[in-house]
Amino acid sequence: MTSPVLRADFSKKFSGGPVIRADVLEISGAGVTVLFGPSGSGKTTILRCLAGLETPDEGTISFAGKTWFQKSGKRKAESGNDFILPPKNRGVGFVPQDYALFPHLTVAGNIAYGLHGRSAMETKSRVAEMLRWLDLAGLNSRLPHELSGGQQQRVALARAVAREPKLLLLDEPLAALDTPTRQRLRGELRKLLRQLAIPTVVVTHDRLEALSLGDDLVVLDEGRIVQRGPVQAVFSRPANLTVAGIVAVETIQPGRVLELKDGLATLLVGRAQLTAVAGDLPAGATDVFVCIRAEDVILTKEDAAHASPRNRLAAVVRAIANEGPLTRIELDCGFPLTAVLTRQACAEMALQENDTLLALVKAPQIHLVPRGG
Ligand code: ADP
Ligand code: MG
Repeated sequence: MTSPVLRADFSKKFSGGPVIRADVLEISGAGVTVLFGPSGSGKTTILRCLAGLETPDEGTISFAGKTWFQKSGKRKAESGNDFILPPKNRGVGFVPQDYALFPHLTVAGNIAYGLHGRSAMETKSRVAEMLRWLDLAGLNSRLPHELSGGQQQRVALARAVAREPKLLLLDEPLAALDTPTRQRLRGELRKLLRQLAIPTVVVTHDRLEALSLGDDLVVLDEGRIVQRGPVQAVFSRPANLTVAGIVAVETIQPGRVLELKDGLATLLVGRAQLTAVAGDLPAGATDVFVCIRAEDVILTKEDAAHASPRNRLAAVVRAIANEGPLTRIELDCGFPLTAVLTRQACAEMALQENDTLLALVKAPQIHLVPRGG
């Protein structure tokens, strides 16, 4: 079975704001596409346009070959073909940033809300299924204000998923939670989305959330799509300075946890072994993204065995590029690693391509993002 394709190419402008342009946004497959960008870049607007809650000024949206929206811009002659499919007919599950649970309805009532039109028996069994799936069974008769933030988030997800949407849209799903809960739920949410295997678009301005939830990434800046591609590729190779500034981590590589002990994680990354501070890595985590900022990589030609960093990686210089006062150095140390030096430091070391040296990275400067499921 081929999965449905979402195609969108539209623009929307609010007075005083930038033109927000979903410029040939194409989403296929059952994976998670993350719309990522700073606050005000147009993420929510694009999501609401896809859901039909906002009307673009012009453009088209189609899903699985069916037109959802079509509006020509200024050419009045063509406006006879304009078409807007109402939100309820789009088969979309939409979870707004604040969850918008009905305060007077219980957990079960909230989940059942979208199921009108189904028999009482079918509704009951679908609600029970959702409660089980999201581990909410004991809470079914509570009201939203009697739930923790994380539980509210799951109820909102359950309500959206209950009616078996063909497309799931989540706006900043974890933003309303406190930091520890958010960290815990990142991996959990990814696992849930994996299980669902529905095409999903997640909006976030949080780098770690984008990394842990997304398969594909679409980076927005001031209403424009500035880069798109597989999440790791975009984070590791930002297309330009704007994207680099937004993502702000040079090395992102998949790694496997070999051991978790005494607060430290031993990881296999490419052919290299690294030690990192486990931080909030959940017990049992195996797959992670290993994130290292270029300025945290120390390069040395002598083996200063007394130096403190735990990770001492034999590296070969693959490329040297001058970027203003800084020099960016691409290394191979069993995995691709990027370092940055001042131009002067680089000259003092007389660094050249194919030189071998040691790259030192302290354990606390290796950031781990769990990739559950
Ligand atoms: P993001 O979700 O990336 O933070 P939004 O899509 O919410 O961005 O907003 C993008 C731009 O559109 C901002 O300049 C915002 O002020 C403007 N905007 C969004 N919604 C409205 C609205 N209902 N009325 C007027 N301006 C809006
Ligand atoms: Mg928003």
